[in-house]
Amino acid sequence: MSISSFHPPKRTLMGPGPSDVNPRILEAMSRPTIGHLDPAFVGMMEEVKGLLQYAFQTKNALTMPVSAPGSAGMESCFVNLVEPGDKVIVCQNGVFGGRMKENVERCGGTAIMVQDAWGSAVDANKLEDALKANPDAGIVAFVHAETSTGAQSDAKTLVELAHKHDCLAIVDAVTSLGGTPLKVDEWGIDAIYSGTQKCLSCTPGISPVSFSEAAQKKISNRKHRVQSWFLDMNLVMGYWGAGAKRAYHHTAPINALYALHEALVILQDEGLENAWQRHQNNHLALRAGFEAMGLNFVVNEQDRLPQLNAVTIPDGVDDAAVRGQLLNDYNLEIGAGLGDLAGKVWRIGLMGYASNQTNVLFCLGALDAVMTEMGANINSGEAVKAASAHYK
Ligand SMILES: *Cc1c(COP(=O)(O)O)cnc(C)c1O
Repeated sequence: MSISSFHPPKRTLMGPGPSDVNPRILEAMSRPTIGHLDPAFVGMMEEVKGLLQYAFQTKNALTMPVSAPGSAGMESCFVNLVEPGDKVIVCQNGVFGGRMKENVERCGGTAIMVQDAWGSAVDANKLEDALKANPDAGIVAFVHAETSTGAQSDAKTLVELAHKHDCLAIVDAVTSLGGTPLKVDEWGIDAIYSGTQKCLSCTPGISPVSFSEAAQKKISNRKHRVQSWFLDMNLVMGYWGAGAKRAYHHTAPINALYALHEALVILQDEGLENAWQRHQNNHLALRAGFEAMGLNFVVNEQDRLPQLNAVTIPDGVDDAAVRGQLLNDYNLEIGAGLGDLAGKVWRIGLMGYASNQTNVLFCLGALDAVMTEMGANINSGEAVKAASAHYK
């Protein structure tokens, strides 16, 4: 048997993640591996923590990257905060709220579901009704940026409601971090998790998390041990803790953390507000293009995420054939619909490094050409013009 080195094709990643990785990050990742207790590495970790506090807009001491993808960040929030018998109100308006329910139940808690239509933001009134009906609930959980639909919820208002009813708030910010305004301390979020491969444009596999003092208090006062050894924050803090004498917990993914460090330096250099503004501007150009083409957005204008654009597939167009041709002929990846929206929508990501004018024009041009060739009922030749006009 003779298998040779793997050389991936060069794609443009405009799906729901991973997004295009900045070459600076790939270069950082290829630097020499050093020991995870090496003073040089420990110094870099301190910087990662500070940079994450900036990205999350928080002073929380318990802010760190979990050594596993966004799903592990989700799990770390739930396993640490939910104890057997706890009642958790979970707001669901897409795929990821369903995973929160799974997490609550696997921790021995009871999930009270507040359902909203896929493509809608979480309805604060429904949450308030659920809080009134369940005065014994201790936690509210919701997804800030639903990647399955492109809907953004009003995190500030939802967290306020949770606190008004003496609940802690767990927020999924996997797709929002770095792409859309997110202010952990100002909004009072108690536990938040994100991922590296969406708007941070880093390689997948790390999950930044942050816990407020109230959340930390709940974790240290638990009656039951955290069911997961790996994700138990009490243990992980021995490694990531403020000024802690680093004790071995697990071997940190050294080079993946070089990558995250570089991604966060890039974000710091651009400035959070500028990054949010760039995502919004490219979204508006893409939107102008899709509207000119005659495609409709799934989400109402006021709840749309700039970094995840879900548009309805025109009648009679073969979803898989279009995506296949984009990949084969243009090396362009866009996202398919998930769950209720499978086969009905495309999800165009404009995340992090991938959120730029070139990608917007390229994606619109490619979709226009592919669908026109297939005889789809669209306004051919209009999309790129409309998006270019937005930039001028
Ligand atoms: C991508 C995503 C996740 C899961 O992150 P992974 O890195 O794939 O584990 C969780 N929540 C949301 C909203 C996401 O978009």
